[in-house]
Formats: sequence, C-alpha cells, structure tokens
Amino acid sequence: MATPTASAHRPRTCRGCGRKFEYPVKGSPASRHHCEDCVGVPPETRKVLERLNQRVTQLERQLESQRRQQAPPTTPAA
Ligand SMILES: [Zn+2]
Repeated sequence: MATPTASAHRPRTCRGCGRKFEYPVKGSPASRHHCEDCVGVPPETRKVLERLNQRVTQLERQLESQRRQQAPPTTPAA
C-alpha cells in the first residue's frame, strides 16, 4: 500500500476553520496551524474560532461513531 501524496506537501488542517490547506506555499501567509484566511484574524478572535472548531470536530466524531453503531458497514443481503 503506497501512499501517493508527497511527504513535503502534506495537506494540513487549519485549527481555526478546519479547512484543509497546503503548507508551505510560496507567497502564502499561512502558518503551520492556520490557513491564509485565519492567520490574519486577531489572536483573541482566533482563540474563539479554535474553540468552536474543536466543538465541531468533536460533534462530527460523535455523529460518525453513532452512525457506525446504527448501520454496520458490512451486512450481507442474502
Ligand atoms: Zn482557517
């Protein structure tokens, strides 16, 4: 199982908005943990963004695990 993605340009997930972005990109102000949109947000506002994003991520995980429990992935019809 070979992974086709290059190790140098691994997509990163923004801590502020959860968006996938490339880092580093020439000419882009994006930092290691924040995409180019969130890197310009004032620190105190970004803190709130990160908190909300954490909750969304947590809720997504909960939803996914509930969905898995309700519908098992392999159910042979016959
Ligand atoms: Zn972002």
